[in-house]
Amino acid sequence: MTALSGLAATDTAANGDAPAELTDGYHLVVDALKMNDVDTIYGVVGIPITDLARLAQAQGIRYIGFRHESNAGHAAAAAGYLNKKPGVALTVSAPGFLNGLVALANATTNCFPMVQISGSSERHLVDLKQGDYEEMDQLAAAQPFVKAAYRVGRVEDIGRGIARALRTAISGRPGGVYLDIPAAVLGTILDAEAGARTLSRLVDPAPRQLPAPEAVDRAIELLAAAERPLVVLGKGAAYAQADEKIRSFVESTGVPYVPMSMAKGLLPDDHPQSAAAARSLALKKADVVMLVGARLNWLLNHGEAPQWNPEAKFIQVDIEPREIDSNQPIAAPLVGDIESVLDALAERTKPGQIATPAAWTDELAARTAQNTAKMAKRLEADPSPMQFMGALKAVRDVIRRRPEIYLVNEGANALDIARNVIDMHVPRHRLDSGTWGVMGIGMGYAIAAAVESGAPVVAVEGDSAFGFSGMELETICRYKLPVVTVIMNNGGVYRGDDVNPLTNDPSPTTLMVAARHDLMIEAFGGKGYRATTPAEVTAALTEALASGGPALIDCVIDPSAGTESGHIAHLNPKGITVGNITPAKK
Ligand code: ADP
Repeated sequence: MTALSGLAATDTAANGDAPAELTDGYHLVVDALKMNDVDTIYGVVGIPITDLARLAQAQGIRYIGFRHESNAGHAAAAAGYLNKKPGVALTVSAPGFLNGLVALANATTNCFPMVQISGSSERHLVDLKQGDYEEMDQLAAAQPFVKAAYRVGRVEDIGRGIARALRTAISGRPGGVYLDIPAAVLGTILDAEAGARTLSRLVDPAPRQLPAPEAVDRAIELLAAAERPLVVLGKGAAYAQADEKIRSFVESTGVPYVPMSMAKGLLPDDHPQSAAAARSLALKKADVVMLVGARLNWLLNHGEAPQWNPEAKFIQVDIEPREIDSNQPIAAPLVGDIESVLDALAERTKPGQIATPAAWTDELAARTAQNTAKMAKRLEADPSPMQFMGALKAVRDVIRRRPEIYLVNEGANALDIARNVIDMHVPRHRLDSGTWGVMGIGMGYAIAAAVESGAPVVAVEGDSAFGFSGMELETICRYKLPVVTVIMNNGGVYRGDDVNPLTNDPSPTTLMVAARHDLMIEAFGGKGYRATTPAEVTAALTEALASGGPALIDCVIDPSAGTESGHIAHLNPKGITVGNITPAKK
């Protein structure tokens, strides 16, 4: 318990007793966080939380100060995902809170545990709408976007509020929780001992959830009867940190698997049972599909034909019962935490009961070999000007030798192509745009990966995507983080060669082809490189990683390289041609 030094309750002293020690809301927040093992806070300071950040730092919590709350929030979310415990973001009232809310909503969508603590303005002024400084009913504003939102109305409820926020974020399906602490509550002084009694440490914050035996048997029977079984591993499986149990289930059953992008590396991408390179065939033909921590959302075409076999039966392993049947009827729901479900499956499967027919694995292996050969040919080509493939192959070859490197990836083409080209070999080392396919996570995720792991990070960014969080280069340099940002600079959103047929204004998708992102990082003391060939990318990345410091490589890509909307052009609504503009250009 930390108490305010030099402050004592004078009435007690006047009675002749020893002066009571005092504390306040700021101290109680820090004490409650420390008591619950929060060791890092990501934030942007300002009224009323500047002293909270100072105090946290003074009390041994690491505070990482950002330039924009969205990026601080994304960092907290990534920390939550990587550590399987809530990441904490700290924001100021109204605009700062709203900036952070984007990341909190994104964390909720991705099922990452995160708590955004925000200071807020005077309740009585806010509620009567009297025009306070940064006035906003933040609790109401947060509500629709988060797993839960709470407000602490009295200083003695701070401990309860923090305990509640942390437990809600981490238990069941993880998500984003908003905790509102008005300035007046932070500044309220109370007796230190009484304050200490209001704090508590969570017991079993994310309890195991065991599946019922009959649910386990139902799934085993389905798998045992399958002719073409398939496992889909999602980022929930990566998050669960049941790596060895997942490997042992996959290997003992021989079932082929497809990893979703953030599940890459859960088993190494060159694992013989990976059907990633035969994904379309696997989805189209599988007759029993076991989803492990993966939702049948848009990323999996909602489980619908023609991408999927319309006769496929689904088994779904998920901690959230409401997820079951959301897109397709689930023949065998396995509701529970992944580790407990895998334990139960291992326990209840009879030896040899699940065996994968060789005809199926052979068919997938043949398609994998065919597609891998096709890809190798495309990767061998080294055209000038540089294309995405050439630059990304160079990145792949450098980081392949260093599997401890974290890869952050966002963009349209930069995301689609890197996902296919860059193999992962270690669990939870790939962080990307996720469930929303959002842009702007780049620097926040990269900073969190570096801060939380101490390992080097390579952030492969589309030039457009990078723009959403680019100012955090200063944060990376200020904290001297081992982050190398690699920009696929084709001078545009999607591509850089679009023209506005009517005026001299750039087209809506045009950015500056001549932009020198490498000079941006030099402004903050980092090392900038400009690369126009794959060989230059290799040399720059090798040198940057060896230096261990902040660096940025601006890869000059052919402006005509890239597809509008990348692999998801089909999501653009079809429209009619206006003048010489045809919507949904492919
Ligand atoms: P992807 O985008 O990789 O397909 P999703 O984010 O769609 O993955 O799915 C993750 C799923 O994992 C969510 O439905 C979530 O409820 C579930 N999940 C998260 N943690 C666990 C866990 N420990 N045990 C079981 N399911 C989990």
